[in-house]
Amino acid sequence: MKIIGIRQAAILAGGQGIRLRPFTLTLPKPMIPIHGKPFLEYIIELLKKNSIEEVIIMTGYLHKKIEDYFKDGQKFGLKIKYSFSPVEDETGTRIKKAKKFLDGTFLLLYADNYWPLQLDQLFKFYKKMDTQGLATVYSNIDNYTKNNILVNDKGLVEIYDKTRQTPGLNGVDIGFFVLNKKIFNLFPQENFSFEKVILPQLVSKKQLAGFLTNHKYYGLSNLERIPVIEKFLKPKKIILLDRDGVIDEKPPKAEYVKNWSEFKFLPGTIEALKLLNKKGYQIIIISNQAGIGRGVMTEEDLKEIHRKFLEACAKESINIVGIYYCPHNWDEGCFCRKPKPGMLFKAAADHSFDLTKAIFIGDDERDKQAGQAANCPTILLQQGRDLLAIIRDLV
Ligand SMILES: [Mg+2]
Repeated sequence: MKIIGIRQAAILAGGQGIRLRPFTLTLPKPMIPIHGKPFLEYIIELLKKNSIEEVIIMTGYLHKKIEDYFKDGQKFGLKIKYSFSPVEDETGTRIKKAKKFLDGTFLLLYADNYWPLQLDQLFKFYKKMDTQGLATVYSNIDNYTKNNILVNDKGLVEIYDKTRQTPGLNGVDIGFFVLNKKIFNLFPQENFSFEKVILPQLVSKKQLAGFLTNHKYYGLSNLERIPVIEKFLKPKKIILLDRDGVIDEKPPKAEYVKNWSEFKFLPGTIEALKLLNKKGYQIIIISNQAGIGRGVMTEEDLKEIHRKFLEACAKESINIVGIYYCPHNWDEGCFCRKPKPGMLFKAAADHSFDLTKAIFIGDDERDKQAGQAANCPTILLQQGRDLLAIIRDLV
């Protein structure tokens, strides 16, 4: 994937250090080890994956520790340069000092947030909005933190409130900005904060687009979050499976599997699930069950089917880690019914995985659309290519 028009990222990594126990080791925050490598390295890998060619790390506190580790970036497959400024410099001043390194358009990140960046999508939205800046905004569906932004229905940031007090805010700035160098015209002489001084000006000029995302981000704002980040960044294999038509026989349109006697495993399902487990995949089911919303069956009926399903799997030593279903009727406008991606986001947040690194297998165009909306690679069953055939190719 080649990104036209954006090849460079600038990372704010000058903040305070952190003292890790039981060691008397002081590190700059981005160097906190997660599974044996610095948190910042995960961000660098993410940038590389997004075809970024050059990274400017804006360092401050204990900058040598960052420079000694990342050097010129060769080891990580991209070019790394450093723009050092003293610890007392605020974020805006750091960016100002890096100006000579920066392209006309660049990505700006905070070094303490991880989010599964899809730069092509960000850039496409930025071009469409034709603003000087774009902020990535997490929709905060799980109330991960307090909102600080209001993105309006035109896609512009209408309010940016660092105090997080204004009512009606609908998201959180996660520090993945696309910026045009024109913003340097707004930079003052004195030491200044980018968030406090520049963002409000961009907002009042209607020059800040808000790219809303439902994919959870993971921040190192405090040490208590380290275990949460460790869990998310731990490499894992996740398979999401639609149910009817993938695992069991699909009932005719507008009919439903209402009890266990109507649930018929498709040939090869058990073998496919066993193979997945054997290869270390965690299996999660993602299923529309509008029969509940349409009054054809009760939620209790569905739960009973799933209890029996899990029992049948357990007998074959198959472990299913989660079952998500949408009980709503076709026209309820919920966020969970496929082709909407709600169940995928919920599963990812609950089980701490990255949807861009998981695989979703379905049998219906709506599965494909839900997968796309969640940036999750999706495979559909086809005539003559059942679940087992797909899984055999995959593992
Ligand atoms: Mg299906």
